[in-house]
Amino acid sequence: LLFEVRYSDLAGRIGKITTPSGTFETPAFIPVIHPVSQSVDINFFKKLGFEAVITNAYITLKQCGDLAREKGIHKIINFDGPIMTDSGGYQVLEYGSIEPEPSYIAQFENDIKSDICVPLDKPTGYGLRYDVAERYVNETIKNSQETLNLIKSNNDRNSVWVGPVQGAEHLDLVKRSAGQLDEMGYDMLALGSPVQLLESYEFAILADMIAALKSKVMSKPLHLFGAGHPLTIPLAVALGCDTFDSASYILYARDNRYMHANGTSRLDKLSYLACQCPICINMTVKEFIQLEYKERIDKLAKHNLYVLRGEVLSVKQAIMEGRLWEYVGQKARAHPKLMEAFKLFLNYKYLEDGTPVFKKKAIFFMETIDQYRPEASRIRKIFDSFRTNKKKIILFPDTQVSPFYSSHEYHKLSSKFSDYQICAYNPFIGIIPAEISDIYPAAHNLISKRKLNVNSAKDYPTFVSSFEKFLSHSYFDDVIVVADEFMQGIVHQTNLEFKNLRIIEYSDDVIEQI
Ligand SMILES: [Zn+2]
Repeated sequence: LLFEVRYSDLAGRIGKITTPSGTFETPAFIPVIHPVSQSVDINFFKKLGFEAVITNAYITLKQCGDLAREKGIHKIINFDGPIMTDSGGYQVLEYGSIEPEPSYIAQFENDIKSDICVPLDKPTGYGLRYDVAERYVNETIKNSQETLNLIKSNNDRNSVWVGPVQGAEHLDLVKRSAGQLDEMGYDMLALGSPVQLLESYEFAILADMIAALKSKVMSKPLHLFGAGHPLTIPLAVALGCDTFDSASYILYARDNRYMHANGTSRLDKLSYLACQCPICINMTVKEFIQLEYKERIDKLAKHNLYVLRGEVLSVKQAIMEGRLWEYVGQKARAHPKLMEAFKLFLNYKYLEDGTPVFKKKAIFFMETIDQYRPEASRIRKIFDSFRTNKKKIILFPDTQVSPFYSSHEYHKLSSKFSDYQICAYNPFIGIIPAEISDIYPAAHNLISKRKLNVNSAKDYPTFVSSFEKFLSHSYFDDVIVVADEFMQGIVHQTNLEFKNLRIIEYSDDVIEQI
C-alpha cells in the first residue's frame, strides 16, 4: 500500500508513504539537497528526523551522469532513506529551456534508483496569460503520458511516480490537469510551482489552487512544490498537502534570514534569539553575526531546519488533538495575507470529510469565521433535518451546562412548558433541539459570548439560515423567544411572521416571569 492514513483533521492527514527505500510519516517536509555540493551535512537531516530528501535529477545528470547511473543516487548523496527527484522542471522556469527529452529524464530517474520521481514538467509559475498557461499544462500532460508509457515497461523497483499538476491561478487548468494525471494512473500528485506566489505571500491564491486540485483528486497523496515557510506549512497541510519540499532553509540563510514560528526576520535586525535550538541557546545575536561567513550560513541554515522541524511537529500534534482549525487560525494572525486565505475555508466543503465526527476535546468558537468550521456545518445539517409534532416552541440561550437537557434551566422550562418544543440556540451552531443537545459538538464547545451582538444577522448568516429553516419546517402557532443580546440582534433583523410571537428579554429569573 503506497499511502496509509492513520489520523486526519480538516484535510490534514497523518499517514505513511511507502517507497522502495522505506516508509516515512506524513505530513513531511522534504528538504532540497544539492546532489554534489551539499551545504549542510546530510546526516544532520536524519538527526532532525527528516526521513526523506529531494534532489534534482537534471543537475545530477549534468554533474554526475554515468557515475550516478552506476552508483545510484543514494550513494551519490550518501542517504539511505527515501529520495525524491525533481525532474528539472524548475530549471525550465529559471532558465527558460532544457535539453533532454522527457523520456530521457524519466529513464535517468529510473536508472539512478530514485524512490519518488517526477516527470519533466513545465511549471506555470504565476502571472502567465491563460493561453500560455494552458500550453504549459498541455505540454506537461503530454510529457507525463510519455513518461508513464516508458515507466510501465520497466518500473521493476516500484518507485512512486508523481503527476505534476500545473495551471497556477487558472483554477480550471489545475482541475483539468489533476483529473487527467489521476486517470493516467499516477500514484501521487504534486502541485507546482507556487514559489513566486509564496514569495509575494499570495496565500489565498495558493489555497484556492489546492482546493481546486482536491475537488478532483481527494485521496491520493499530494506533494506541494517549493513550500518551506513556517506560515505556508500549516495552511498547506490543513488543505490536504501531505509532503512539501523547499531549499528555503539554505536560501534564507544565505540572505541572512532567520526563521521563526511566524515568519522570518533579518538576523542583524534581531535583538534576541528567542529560540531554544542547540544553535541559538549557545549564542547571542552579536556572536551569531560575527561568525565567519561559512560558519554563519551553516548555523543559520541549521537553525532554520530546527524551526521547520518544529513547525511540522506542531501541525502533526494539532491533527492528533483535533485542533488543526484552531492552529491555522492562530497562525493566520501572524500575517493579513494568511488570514485572507483562512477566511476562504468557508468555501472548502471538503474539509468536512477529513474532520472526525467525534473529538475528545471541546472545540472553541471565538470569531465569526468559526461558524464555518466543519463540526459546526455538520451539526447544523442534523438540526435542519429535525422535525417535531409539537405546535408550540420556546427558544432559550445555550447554557453553560452541557448537554442543554441536563441543565437546571431546561428542567424548569420542561415542567412549565410541557407541550412546547424546547430548543437552545448557539450563534455558531444554530437552533439546538433539547432532545438531541448531546450530539457532538452541541455539548462540547466553548464560546466567547461577550460582544457577539455587533451585527448578529450580518455576521452570523449560518445562524439566521438555521433559525429561519427551523421555524419554517414545522407549523408553530405559538413562538416564544427568550432573547439574549445576540438573539435580540437577530430577531430585529429577521422577518418573522408568526401570529403569536413573543420576544422576551433574557434575565436570570426570566423563566419565572414568562
Ligand atoms: Zn535556533
